[in-house]
Amino acid sequence: MLYTSTRDKSVKVESAYAIAQGISKDGGLFVPTEIPQIDKSFIDSLVPLSYIERAKKVLSLYLTDFTAEEIDMCVSGAYADGKFSSSKVAPVKKIKEGENILELWRGPTCAFKDMALQLLPYLLTVSAKKTVADKTIVILVATSGDTGKAALEGFKDVPGTKIMVFYPEDGVSPMQKLQMTTQAGENVAVSAIKGNFDDAQSGVKKIFTDKEVAKKLDENRMMFSSANSINWGRLVPQIVYYISAYCDMIENGEIKNGDEMNVVVPTGNFGNILAAYYAKKMGVPVGKLICASNANNVLTDFLKTGIYDRNRKFFTTTSPSMDILISSNLERLLFHLADENDETIAKWMAELSSEGKYEVTSDVKEKVLSLFDAGCCDDEETKDTIGKTYKNGYLLDTHTAVAVKVYRDYIERTGDNTPTVIASTANPYKFSAAVLSAVCDKNLDGVDEFTQVDLLREITGEPCPEQLATLKGKSPRFTSCCEKENMIDTVYAMLGI
Ligand SMILES: *Cc1c(COP(=O)(O)O)cnc(C)c1O
Repeated sequence: MLYTSTRDKSVKVESAYAIAQGISKDGGLFVPTEIPQIDKSFIDSLVPLSYIERAKKVLSLYLTDFTAEEIDMCVSGAYADGKFSSSKVAPVKKIKEGENILELWRGPTCAFKDMALQLLPYLLTVSAKKTVADKTIVILVATSGDTGKAALEGFKDVPGTKIMVFYPEDGVSPMQKLQMTTQAGENVAVSAIKGNFDDAQSGVKKIFTDKEVAKKLDENRMMFSSANSINWGRLVPQIVYYISAYCDMIENGEIKNGDEMNVVVPTGNFGNILAAYYAKKMGVPVGKLICASNANNVLTDFLKTGIYDRNRKFFTTTSPSMDILISSNLERLLFHLADENDETIAKWMAELSSEGKYEVTSDVKEKVLSLFDAGCCDDEETKDTIGKTYKNGYLLDTHTAVAVKVYRDYIERTGDNTPTVIASTANPYKFSAAVLSAVCDKNLDGVDEFTQVDLLREITGEPCPEQLATLKGKSPRFTSCCEKENMIDTVYAMLGI
């Protein structure tokens, strides 16, 4: 199995190279040249297995240049007993007829990013050994809050790596910020930037593709890689949990093997929902892919009109991990839907970067419309959904609530009652203020983060994950904030070069 670039089809590399590099030199993203197919009997064989065993079988279809021993070592390390607070790793819970919540936040940092970022350091270490054994890998991360912490936790003290995280100064929740700024480890650094997530992501992408910077790193026996979902090594672990969820739906008696299942995903950078698309393309009977956005609804519009237009107001919402106007992974979807026409993709991406806008062909638009449904909701509706769902016995975080609301609107609009899995992307305690205001009437002005945590615990009886509760009183280790133009200097300073 080889990988190519969305912007240059002459590129043909093995997965180890794609994972170690993170992004193709032409600025495109690595995609598989063919999508491995699985059938009903393959799924039957997965149903009785543990998450780790399911993951090994799925990953071996994509990482064909890894040995079985290497895959075994990576997966067993990432999802080892005790790392996730559920023995199923990513359990599926029915909260209402037809509504099944796929809990993806049971890892060490309480967001779905752990599903991939517990595994990525293993995949990257093996990949680097195969391709660039003599270099230190420098992981650069732009985060809207959750990737940063999950990547820091995954890469801390991993030999042969260093990691630097940039987050938007005012764009993350207090809990997210504290999680990152108190990070332990000898090879880690964290900085705020004056700007939003898109600024951070653009800055990081620019550093990745700057030839001068690459030369300077090379002279110091270093190279960059990415832990953002532009890295194929982030996406492939995410495909696993959709296949695993399908197996769990069979096990739970919600569907029979072969029946369709819809998937709803609260979306930002389009990575999570793209993984569900790959699962569908592999042969898993996924019906509609329902893309849920908050007030930053650039994807809702795109998936309905075929016009991607980021020239709009940017909103800071109660679901900050979805406050994104440039959804990087859409590029991969478009590559597959546009018959792998690399020139077309390069043109659209150039238009996005110069005009902030592009329009796909009517052929691509038709394909998008047949695969996806999309909706959005604002903070008020998010709050209302948390409140109502809590009354029915389940406490949602703000991101998952966006998905639940968009799904309920979808049912009302279409009457489609296909059994559905809703990706739940964070533990509610990561966003205590917004969740608390949805389940209690008290005036919470001026109440600090950990008092809110206590109140939320008192009111709902839901346990607060220990790794969040113990942040109380910790003082930050990283307090710097840089201009978005100066990110590279911050990187050099951290690397001491
Ligand atoms: C990152 C994140 C999202 C968005 O996921 P994408 O893969 O970027 O679409 C949604 N919810 C939470 C809690 C996140 O951390």
